[in-house]
Amino acid sequence: MYDLVILGGGPAGYLSAERAGEAGLNTVLIEKCHLGGVCLNEGCVPSKTILYSSKLFSQAKHSQGFGVTVGDAAFDLKKVMTRKEKVIGALRKGIAATMKKNKVTVVNGEGTVLPKENNAFRVKAGDTIVEGKKLLICTGSEAIRIPIPGADRDFVYTNREILSIDHIPENFVVIGGGVIGLEIANFFAEVGSKVTVVELLPFIGGPIDSDISAALKKEMEKKGIVFKLQSKVVEIGEKSVVYEAGGNKESVDADIVLMSVGRRPVTKGLGFENINLFIDKGAIRVDERGRTNVPDVWAAGDVNGVSMLAHTAYREGEVCINDILGKNDRMRYHAVPGVIYTHPEVATIGLTEKEAAHEGIEVTTAKLPMSYSGRYLAENEAGKGFCKVVVNKETRALLGVHMIGSVCSEMIFGVAPMIENELRVEDIAELVFPHPTVSEIIRDTVKHAK
Ligand SMILES: Cc1cc2nc3c(=O)[nH]c(=O)nc-3n(C[C@H](O)[C@H](O)[C@H](O)COP(=O)(O)OP(=O)(O)OC[C@H]3O[C@@H](n4cnc5c(N)ncnc54)[C@H](O)[C@@H]3O)c2cc1C
Repeated sequence: MYDLVILGGGPAGYLSAERAGEAGLNTVLIEKCHLGGVCLNEGCVPSKTILYSSKLFSQAKHSQGFGVTVGDAAFDLKKVMTRKEKVIGALRKGIAATMKKNKVTVVNGEGTVLPKENNAFRVKAGDTIVEGKKLLICTGSEAIRIPIPGADRDFVYTNREILSIDHIPENFVVIGGGVIGLEIANFFAEVGSKVTVVELLPFIGGPIDSDISAALKKEMEKKGIVFKLQSKVVEIGEKSVVYEAGGNKESVDADIVLMSVGRRPVTKGLGFENINLFIDKGAIRVDERGRTNVPDVWAAGDVNGVSMLAHTAYREGEVCINDILGKNDRMRYHAVPGVIYTHPEVATIGLTEKEAAHEGIEVTTAKLPMSYSGRYLAENEAGKGFCKVVVNKETRALLGVHMIGSVCSEMIFGVAPMIENELRVEDIAELVFPHPTVSEIIRDTVKHAK
């Protein structure tokens, strides 16, 4: 019998397996498809790989402003996709090697939880039944498809199909102006499609800071992306998307449609009722240590529906394993960064002004343009992007940082320990940042919060 059975080999599952194996737990990891899950195979990694190509292409076309002239820049989708597969392949091999190194048994098959027998959890995967003392569920999430007429047409894709597309559509329509929709809209706009984003809400980017959302929309519009806000898609026609806006029905031409209206935890049909697992609104309910309502059963990653990000999934997996090992650890969600990998990028952490007001916290804010940073000015076109900070007016502690501009994604982690440790404006002013770096903008903006 295994010490631990892990169901699902995405970021939550494979990181947990690695940590469990390292700690000497006899561990089995069950994965129905490829190790790496959505993140590696049809999410974070493929999207960032192709986005890097479209960014290079765009930069090549606009390099004259930096004194560099290149010949006719061309974009070869086939080569881009081949490179993407190579990146995925290398990382998949890396995960498999890590499993081997940590003596984790990997079973390839779709796992279903059976009723417990002789005090053991039992999971059936194909012809194999594995038994374990403890169970960690990491079955992740899947794309939601809204049930409107035409939603099953063959040119309506989810993230899975769109990231392996073999041609660049003339008219590309994204349903949903959230993170995933915006990143993929950015890619197609940069490689020449006419892109329209249809979004139900009056803003894009979901719960991000409203100034950042407005700035991002402007930047995306400069790329030619058309936004139809407060618009509800009601039908997908022969070659069009039909939506309602302000009481009128309108339509936009579409060769390919990306349905990007959110994701739902994978909890159905997996036998969870056999162990009386509590599922709340489709997600496995967990506490801050990843424990479910069933003793000796934990859940980590998208399946708990809390944060739905790969880096959260990693940390949740780690917290579960620490709890299993009897170590004191818990999830702290207030300092988890979020990034939108558009060009420019958006990176955000902690409370927005609106969220702080909602929590009844009086705040002061400050905002500096990215062009305040010498390094940013040297390497980017002036004027784009800014950094905004939210500070507790009474305690002077930093509560949130919200940025738009290239390379933001690489800086935001530095804010996490500041928020976790409740650093005040005065504490941050004493930190030494390397010069010239764009990250200095964080310290400088914080200093402006009066
Ligand atoms: C297009 C896109 C881009 C994204 N970009 C980012 C990003 O840049 N940064 C970020 O932080 N997050 C990003 N995400 C979100 C990120 O992919 C998820 O948060 C992350 O994958 C969650 O990890 P997980 O381990 O919980 O689940 P998943 O990655 O969903 O993995 C679950 C695994 O479980 C397996 N499984 C499910 N049921 C069973 C079963 N019954 N038996 C066996 N195996 C099973 C699945 O095959 C899958 O491999 C993106 C998502 C998408 C769709």
